[in-house]
Amino acid sequence: MCGCIFCKMASREIPANILYEDDLCMVFEDINPQAPIHLLVIPKKHITSLNDAGDEDGALLGHLLGAVARAAKEKKIDGSGYRTVINTNAEAGQTVFHLHIHVLGGRRLGWPPG
Ligand code: 5GP
Ligand code: ZN
Repeated sequence: MCGCIFCKMASREIPANILYEDDLCMVFEDINPQAPIHLLVIPKKHITSLNDAGDEDGALLGHLLGAVARAAKEKKIDGSGYRTVINTNAEAGQTVFHLHIHVLGGRRLGWPPG
């Protein structure tokens, strides 16, 4: 059994506020939002980090970016702007080891990120 929390969310073992779902991906609200809009886009397939995405995952990665843009439009932050973030491994702050794309918006975001 996979003990991964995002796999459990994908299989509905753990509840989430889901904004969008299809065969390949899921978009849900982050439990600890860092901006007025803070969504996570995950593949349903377990990929530990971006380091572990292979050439065969290229179409899936593109699909995830499509889901980002769709969710931003749905949340009406496509015009004002939003940031997409993939944290990879410890120094970048990855805490859940199932590939995910953060979508942050609804306020002005500083640059460079901390
Ligand atoms: P990371 O730090 O790995 O880039 O991002 C993991 C994100 O997952 C964090 O922003 C954290 O708040 C979120 N997260 C962790 N556990 C849960 C959970 O059980 N439900 C939801 N919705 N988000 C979670
Ligand atoms: Zn997983």
